[in-house]
Amino acid sequence: MIIWLNNNFVSLEEAKVSPFDRGFLFADGVYEAMRTYNRKLFRVEDHLQRLNRSLNLIEINFTGTDGLEKIIYELIEKNNVKGEAFVYLQITRGVSIPRTHHFSQSQNPTVFITVNELEDEPEKRANGVKVITDEDLRWLRCNIKSLALLPAVLSKQKAVNAGVEEAILVRNGFITEGTHTNFFAVKNNIVYTVPESNYILSGITRKVVLQLCNELDIKVKEEFIKAEEITSFDECFITSTIEEVTPVIEIDEQIIGNGKPGEITKRLQAAFDKLKTIL
Ligand code: PMP
Repeated sequence: MIIWLNNNFVSLEEAKVSPFDRGFLFADGVYEAMRTYNRKLFRVEDHLQRLNRSLNLIEINFTGTDGLEKIIYELIEKNNVKGEAFVYLQITRGVSIPRTHHFSQSQNPTVFITVNELEDEPEKRANGVKVITDEDLRWLRCNIKSLALLPAVLSKQKAVNAGVEEAILVRNGFITEGTHTNFFAVKNNIVYTVPESNYILSGITRKVVLQLCNELDIKVKEEFIKAEEITSFDECFITSTIEEVTPVIEIDEQIIGNGKPGEITKRLQAAFDKLKTIL
């Protein structure tokens, strides 16, 4: 496996990161996850814009974002990725010796990129998935795509232990989002999703879905959704770069709608599929 680390293509065996890297010590960094369709990066400008936003919000000075796209395509070539690629990219603030909480403005960020062949699971999109709810114990700046994912890791593990796909997070009685997905509900033909705020990550797929709703004349309300209203939803779905638009058919063992992917969800999936093929 070839990765991009500190301005070089290196084999995994040769790759070295200092134990004093602030990513290792403090999770002091941000990341992005992208994918290709027809071997082209999907919404790469949006992902790099979000990366820049995350970097600015945690005051990491990194000026190389414009060069990343070319490096990613080279990495896909070098790894001989067949089919579609998944891209993971992270930037930490770099090394602090000795370890100090505060940082210097002249830190040299550590950039790491890896690609692998994407494993698609279309049956989840076709049949829908089950989820649980869990308390949202994350910090209050969820709009930053921070490396510090421990609360999300623990909630997702709860979901795995419960034999379901995702944990939908609830803060003060309101749904925020999934551990790695945005959440949507449908009621009386209106699509509800949580407004952009510090409580959620501004998902790229979420943005695409809102554009599709607009094109399909589906009414949208961006507002907070009460967890106790779950049983009254006609349809629910989650979105992410990997999951795309995935129907949710059960929440905490309560069946949503008729227990099958809903009609509006299916219309959005079809429109999303069309978007992929015209890339
Ligand atoms: N919310 C969280 C917390 C996430 O980690 C992700 C995955 N990046 C998403 C939402 C979905 O974002 P996107 O559609 O950009 O993959």
